[in-house]
Amino acid sequence: MKKSLIERLDQGPVICAEGFLFELEKRGYMSAGEFAPMVALENPNALENLHRDFQHAGSDIVLAFTYNGHREKLREIGKENLLEPLNRSALQIAKKVANNPINGSDINLLAGNISHSNIWKQDDHESQLKAEKMFSEMVGWAVEEGADMIMGETFFYAEEAFKALEVIQQSGLPSVINIAPMAEDYMQDGYSIIDTCKELEQRGANVVGMNCFRGPATMMPYLRKIRKQITCHMSALPLAFRTTEENPTYFNLPDTNRCACPAPGGKTFPTALDPMYCNRYEMREFFKEAHEMGINFLGVCCGATPMHQREAAEAAGLIVPASKYREIEMQSEIANHPMYDN
Ligand SMILES: [Zn+2]
Repeated sequence: MKKSLIERLDQGPVICAEGFLFELEKRGYMSAGEFAPMVALENPNALENLHRDFQHAGSDIVLAFTYNGHREKLREIGKENLLEPLNRSALQIAKKVANNPINGSDINLLAGNISHSNIWKQDDHESQLKAEKMFSEMVGWAVEEGADMIMGETFFYAEEAFKALEVIQQSGLPSVINIAPMAEDYMQDGYSIIDTCKELEQRGANVVGMNCFRGPATMMPYLRKIRKQITCHMSALPLAFRTTEENPTYFNLPDTNRCACPAPGGKTFPTALDPMYCNRYEMREFFKEAHEMGINFLGVCCGATPMHQREAAEAAGLIVPASKYREIEMQSEIANHPMYDN
């Protein structure tokens, strides 16, 4: 019997890997800038391999890579006819991995995924109805392909997050809603970050939290405040980059590591963020605190490598397949390495 998301969260930490877009771009299977997840159709093996690497690193949930794979994005790049095949393929690949856990592990959960629509406008009924339809069709395909839960994420309009929740609730599946506020203290439609989370809980979201846009340093202060205000399960899926108080999101993060050759356009986002990577110890500190705070839905978003995902799992006290090769067990060998000889 497959345990449900809520049963798992009631028992302890649950890991959900993300960050497919950045990692597949680096592996050469996606285009930066366009960022449409065509990989599910064009290189399904590459996507399956990444899911397996993250599963090995401890992910308990296989999130279908349909992020940005919505009608608006596909229309924009002239591939609207591939919308449904793309969504179904991403779901089927994720399902294949979820149903084949690594020996000894619980069967994974399959999660459908919706995200901010790019078209939502405040007080504009027409754009909101269009966004709702985009959510509905994607949630519908996820249900048909056998999803166990739906994650809605990267919402920077509070009311778009509420609408996404409503659509997920109509499917009857458990809901995870992650908000991703821009560099301000509030959502784009004026709700405070805390009030948005309280409202999501009020409306019955099963899991409420934050993902993407912010690294550990600029996400944690909000998580601490939110944790005091809501009692439902919470999620935390930061970037693996060193965002700062001056630059809370990765969109304008400057390179502070003596960059000798800036990216064309002068911005580090999205292709020259590498020098601002968080190391595993920074990720560990973040996830240790999140776990101690009672946040049980944990994972890493953009910038995540299997190393970061494993760190999230281990910081929450889990032993995962990749733990076999964790540094601590290697310590005596590292100490014996000629490089470390004094
Ligand atoms: Zn992200």
